[in-house]
Amino acid sequence: MNENNTRVWLVGAGPGDPGLLTLRAREVIENAEVVVYDRLVGAGVLALMPENAIKIDVGKNSGTHPVPQREIENILIEYARKNLRVVRLKGGDPFVFGRGGEEAEALVNADIDFEIVPGVTSGIAAPAYAGIPVTHRNLASSLHFITAHAKTGELPDINFDALAKLKNSTLLFYMGVETAGLVCEQLIKSGMSKDTPTAVIERGTTSKQREFISSLNNLPSEIIANNIKSPAMILVGEVAGLSENLNWRSKLKLSGVKIAVTRPQKRAGKLSRMLRDLGAEVLELPCIETEILHDVQLPEFSNYNWLAFTSVTGVEALFNLLAESSRDIRELGSIKIAAIGKATADALRDRGLRVDYMPEIYDGENLAQGLAKIMTQAEKLLMLRAKSGSRELNEILDLNNINYEELAVYETKYLKCSVPDDLDMAVFTSASTVKAFIESCGDGFKLDNIKAICIGKQTAREAANAGFTKIYTAARADLNALVQAACEAR
Ligand code: SAH
Repeated sequence: MNENNTRVWLVGAGPGDPGLLTLRAREVIENAEVVVYDRLVGAGVLALMPENAIKIDVGKNSGTHPVPQREIENILIEYARKNLRVVRLKGGDPFVFGRGGEEAEALVNADIDFEIVPGVTSGIAAPAYAGIPVTHRNLASSLHFITAHAKTGELPDINFDALAKLKNSTLLFYMGVETAGLVCEQLIKSGMSKDTPTAVIERGTTSKQREFISSLNNLPSEIIANNIKSPAMILVGEVAGLSENLNWRSKLKLSGVKIAVTRPQKRAGKLSRMLRDLGAEVLELPCIETEILHDVQLPEFSNYNWLAFTSVTGVEALFNLLAESSRDIRELGSIKIAAIGKATADALRDRGLRVDYMPEIYDGENLAQGLAKIMTQAEKLLMLRAKSGSRELNEILDLNNINYEELAVYETKYLKCSVPDDLDMAVFTSASTVKAFIESCGDGFKLDNIKAICIGKQTAREAANAGFTKIYTAARADLNALVQAACEAR
């Protein structure tokens, strides 16, 4: 429980890319009981909200109006008074044109303790992802955050004369898509050169980022010609010219790709990082969760010659069960060990067990066929695997008259996740992730636009059954090959 009295966290969610979330933000989001969030918070960040948290969307949903500011403040106060941990999530930084100041004041007035978690503001991050440093030793020695939000069709009170006189500076206009014409006109009128470089960056740091470099004179027509929509950042200053040379992001193989990683959260990290390294916008949407079973009676291992594992979870389950029943790994004695693939073999090796057999192609079919070849008629196999795992393995073993038994040591559970409708790809590391993903999508969801990146044949078959039409299968069942398949799918 809370040692202090903090009830509300005003948290910056960053500009969109969940990788730009701060460690503190992640920590408080994961522990939230209530999350009150805005339209600008990225889907990857929203995916971190605990399943059981109360989630309140106070942003603009297409067509409808946002919840009025005073009402948002009342929501925060109401839940804080119920003694719940309330996280108020805002795009970018909560105090940069985010009305975080007003919310903090309302909390002070209501005598509620709060914490501010700053975020990466879009004014700095969106240019960075377009290869534009907002300051530069030779070109910009100051930067200015300006709101260009028009309250009633009119620009806010901006001192254009002062801005136009600044030398070596970068101007960043937030909320300026609609008012860009007026802003540029006023700056030119106040004496700024028509040729001053400018940039407009739409949906910065997301897979949908678009950027256009132009001049002060041409920016408004550029915005119209390209149909730029909010949220977009408008930058005025010499540094905009550096984008051409420094645009690091567009070179990455998966930039512009929004991809869902569906495997259980505790196993998603490495794959997500590999995809992010290549510039993808990664959404962790764990569709399944594995739960190790308790109260499973482990057999006498000396009755078997081979012990086979079809997943890392199977390995973890064995050690759990041994510990729970006060038994010991030495009971395995001279039993030979088979693993479905490298990750499973590594998990065994980490625990001091060397694998005697691993198929060249890491799947159930190849494991069964391989064992059928090397096992003799007199030998007996024990498989530690998931409850209601695929029957393919059994069929092959039966066909080859292998003497085996299987023991369910863990269970796969489907989780409900919210699948956004603008995904480009989804990565599936097992047939069960495909099934669970489809269940989360619900009826009528269009799969045609989503490329399914599958770890192996069995998973790909499941994807085809589920209705995916663009399916890419990794050449080997490992993460490198999976990432390679995503690059080819691009
Ligand atoms: N607190 C936020 C800003 C909120 S005002 C922050 O610190 O970033 C909303 C404006 O922010 C938008 O109109 C747009 O100008 C800018 N903005 C927010 N997210 C953006 C993004 N991903 N790319 C470009 N501009 C963005």
